[in-house]
Amino acid sequence: MISKTQKPKNTRAHWPGFGSINQQQNNMEHKYKIPKNLLSKGNTNAKTSKNSLKTFILYLAPHKQNDKQINICPMASKGCATACLFTAGRGKFSNVQNARINKTNFYIYDKELFILKLAGEIIKETNKAKKNNEKIAFRLNGTSDIDFIYLLQKYASLNIEDLKENAVFYDYTKILGKIRKYKDHLNYHLTFSRAEDNNSVSIAALNDGANVSIVFRDGLPRYWRGYKVIDGDTSDILMIYNKNVVLGLKAKGDAKKDKTGFVVDAVNPI
Ligand code: SF4
Repeated sequence: MISKTQKPKNTRAHWPGFGSINQQQNNMEHKYKIPKNLLSKGNTNAKTSKNSLKTFILYLAPHKQNDKQINICPMASKGCATACLFTAGRGKFSNVQNARINKTNFYIYDKELFILKLAGEIIKETNKAKKNNEKIAFRLNGTSDIDFIYLLQKYASLNIEDLKENAVFYDYTKILGKIRKYKDHLNYHLTFSRAEDNNSVSIAALNDGANVSIVFRDGLPRYWRGYKVIDGDTSDILMIYNKNVVLGLKAKGDAKKDKTGFVVDAVNPI
């Protein structure tokens, strides 16, 4: 466990989470404010609220929805960008969207400070969990596809394996390289997200032993390409306990109207 007295190796004077970021350090030039918290509690999300572990999520504005139009989901497909969770649940409210765009601009314009603040929040919540003898979960890519595990190590000298007794991390990704990179990680679990343009990569991920999430319409099939389909809507952390299965998700929000092939027909799956 990282203690309050431990300092990151880098030279930034701030060590967020231990009370040193001044909320007034907002960058007016780039029009973003440093938010009080980057992480949201999972109980505000219909699916993560079903998790058996208390969960914290980082929601950014996906794809290119930031001032610089930098794509933070490099492998996003047309279908997934349209059907993205950003338009479902609380994400449909403009104040929620603006808060997520603000956080994304903070990330884009000052990545190092953003990551230091994120590391501080992760450590603070993990220390609380340790005190309460609990285990908690973090999903850092709620609506993005960034290698935060690498960035936490790089900018905050935080190796999440040091938190494994009390914290587990999980994410969805469309980057097969990330799935392979973290395949044997102790407390980071990744699921490959199928979309209309990566069907063959999804099969490669399954053949590699990974989990794959697929959005289906009209129910869930029992098997997809020979791999067992489990109901991925019952909880968001099934990937921690199930290996080499399809996490079947029912089409919701804008996904119900999908015509791109992002949503798979459960009766006649491709
Ligand atoms: S990659 Fe994920 S977060 Fe990004 S647009 Fe697609 S569904 Fe949304």
